[in-house]
Amino acid sequence: MPLTPADLTDALRTVLDPDIRKDLVTLGMVKETRMDGDRAAVTIELTTPACPMKDKIRGDIEDAVRAKAAERGAAYAGVEVTFTADVRRANEKTRDGSNPLPGVRQVIAVGAGKGGVGKSTVAVNLAVALARMGARTGYLDGDIYGPSAPTMLGLEDEATQARGNMLLPFEVHGIKAMTIGKLVDAEKPLIWRGPMAHGAFKQLATQTEWGELDYLIIDLPPGTGDVPLTLSQLLPLSGAVIVCTPQQVAQDDARRAAKMFEQLGVPVLGVVENMSSFIDDAGREHDIFGKGGAEIMAQTMGLHFLGSIAIRTALRVHSDRGTPLANWNDARLGAELDTVARGVAQRISTLSMLGQFKTPSISVH
Ligand code: ADP
Repeated sequence: MPLTPADLTDALRTVLDPDIRKDLVTLGMVKETRMDGDRAAVTIELTTPACPMKDKIRGDIEDAVRAKAAERGAAYAGVEVTFTADVRRANEKTRDGSNPLPGVRQVIAVGAGKGGVGKSTVAVNLAVALARMGARTGYLDGDIYGPSAPTMLGLEDEATQARGNMLLPFEVHGIKAMTIGKLVDAEKPLIWRGPMAHGAFKQLATQTEWGELDYLIIDLPPGTGDVPLTLSQLLPLSGAVIVCTPQQVAQDDARRAAKMFEQLGVPVLGVVENMSSFIDDAGREHDIFGKGGAEIMAQTMGLHFLGSIAIRTALRVHSDRGTPLANWNDARLGAELDTVARGVAQRISTLSMLGQFKTPSISVH
């Protein structure tokens, strides 16, 4: 007698999600169990297409079904595991109870304690990495004082388009992107007074026709001043990623950024160490700033470490040319970017599954 679909479900009750530590059946992740003769087939719905645990879950399912077949004395010719993904919704309401981004499931801010650490580089490549993994991803260049998306995404020759009073996002490199840099004169310095800046940012976020998105990555202005702080409150953020370079001085700024998000009730998803070392064109690695500094800082603050990205000429060149997908032509660079993206997606999934989203609790005007 071969196994039955009910036997497969039983077996899956013994397979735990590695992060949540609950079984796949209880978590509602089992979408189909089927037998084709002696061959089993199961479909598992993950909470992100960027799940770093796929291989582990697949291996655990194979072990569990094999054990069940042995227990039943059933003829058994293996199990085919198919993964689908459905990114869960966060608590999408802001403090005032409104829902300004109804089609967006998870809004992720990328911040930094200060400028020049590669915040925009990380934000752009995080968005592109998630899209490459199959997630519907948007990128909002909210760095209203120094928008870099027109260059980094190669939007210089793209015309801004609107439908009614909604802006249409630029559909480039697999993502939907919007930037204030395309709405103002690039040559004129942007001198925004606080309320103007906030208004422009909110309009940009809410009057862009994002459609349905799994993740919207928000590139915040650097620092912990009034503008990044207030912007962080205007949208329902699921969590924040902090970009930091390894030096001690940079860590002090990053600490302040982490505290800012914590005060606002926005979970810090983790820290990315950018410019952690220099990799030359021959692939040799040179430690310039003290690689690992940001990881130690993350540990001492009890924050997750999401990965490090080395300095490479290629990364700078692809940013200047607006060709982020070319970063994946370098396997080592692509792997670093993917590690960060998987880590972010994993943290978001875990937080939404555990229902740990908090609503911002203090109000700062
Ligand atoms: P920020 O947003 O923090 O001000 P950017 O992302 O604009 O910083 O990066 C500043 C400059 O450094 C850009 O020219 C960018 O291409 C370059 N850069 C950032 N990270 C790296 C890296 N890991 N390797 C090479 N160049 C980098």
